[in-house]
Amino acid sequence: MASNIQEKAKKALGEFTKRQLMELDTCSHCALCTDMCPAYNESKNVLHAPGVRTSKLVKLYDKKHGFWTKLFGEKEITEKEIEELAESTYHCSLCGRCMESCPFGFQTHELWIKAREIVDSLEASPENVIRLAGLMDENMNPYGLEPDTRLDWSFFTDLDDAPELDEAEIAYFVGCTTAYKGANHDVAFAICSLLENQGENWTLLGEDEWCCGAPSVMSGKTEEAKKYAEHNVELFESKKIKRVITGCAGCYRMLKFEYPVMLGRKPNFEVMHAVQYLHEQLTTGRLEVEQGKEKIIYHDPCELGRLGGIIKEPREVLAKITSELIEFDEHGVDSKCCGGGGLLQSVNNDMRLNIVKEKLDEAVEKGAEMLVSACPACKLAFVDGVREFKHDIEIYDIHELIAKRLGVSD
Ligand code: SF4
Ligand code: SF4
Repeated sequence: MASNIQEKAKKALGEFTKRQLMELDTCSHCALCTDMCPAYNESKNVLHAPGVRTSKLVKLYDKKHGFWTKLFGEKEITEKEIEELAESTYHCSLCGRCMESCPFGFQTHELWIKAREIVDSLEASPENVIRLAGLMDENMNPYGLEPDTRLDWSFFTDLDDAPELDEAEIAYFVGCTTAYKGANHDVAFAICSLLENQGENWTLLGEDEWCCGAPSVMSGKTEEAKKYAEHNVELFESKKIKRVITGCAGCYRMLKFEYPVMLGRKPNFEVMHAVQYLHEQLTTGRLEVEQGKEKIIYHDPCELGRLGGIIKEPREVLAKITSELIEFDEHGVDSKCCGGGGLLQSVNNDMRLNIVKEKLDEAVEKGAEMLVSACPACKLAFVDGVREFKHDIEIYDIHELIAKRLGVSD
């Protein structure tokens, strides 16, 4: 392999944090993480097992920085090893289930992002991931659509006058997967309608809203993600926003947890997922909704539940809507992923669909009439799954369901 790739490999492998090096060194290869991994369990390909991924990272690290390297010199990393690392790293939905199952509490989610940074620096990312990075650069969203069409979803709803104010209390951060994906336009409309219904002083951000930057992080381009963080935070602060509300689990996690780390400071506004807002309105009596008897099953989006800590609020909101709320066998922090995260769709859509099928099978077996989630990427995965496998179940985002029940959206 070319010597410059060897140099790049050495540099990238030298960028593990001390904690990550300790984790790699301590991994006992117990495979508890592998037992829980939706990607491995779908493919049974050892390369997709998280425990095998850590072994591969250790082996590559040792070749460039290990103890024996200091005595006897570096060893060459082969193209096959890099290809295998890329294959392993991108057959992962970044769901974080491995993190929950690891007896040592390793922060595997961060480790897999670091692995993607290594793959990126070795120029070995999958073709579609490289293409996505180009689309982000051109249009500030991962779908390659013009920034000035970011509010076009409002033309397909009853939102006659989308507010774009210079200053407001609340900003609704729509997020790319809601703004640009037709299946989610009703989610945006529902959240806008709820804010309007509650008499809030709120605004949209129109084409000034940029992607939250999560696709850059997931492509191993964490440094580039900072430009999205800087832009969006500056925008909120220039509008004197006090609360940023988003309905997307991925955007929520970026804005709430990653932005302060990326920027090295706490921004001057509160970040809320829209389901927290709904919960606040319902529990303080500012919003009331009639309870029905639909059999509803709730799916925890990984980035909202396990990785975001919001588990009880959506359940308490749904309990106001129905007396028949049911659960997947594994839910809350143990929830199985829908397959919709981690750019898995762009790398192996069949794997994503087979992962979502398992959840749909379980929901139908339990007799659920509706499967409800709180993330546009989850909704897309479930809608695609139902289309592909013809399950007899309705798919809703929680905000859509509430807005419908209140009669504030169709
Ligand atoms: S984050 Fe999820 S998909 Fe990725 S290795 Fe861990 S359990 Fe598997
Ligand atoms: S569960 Fe933890 S210790 Fe066990 S193989 Fe996975 S990362 Fe290593």
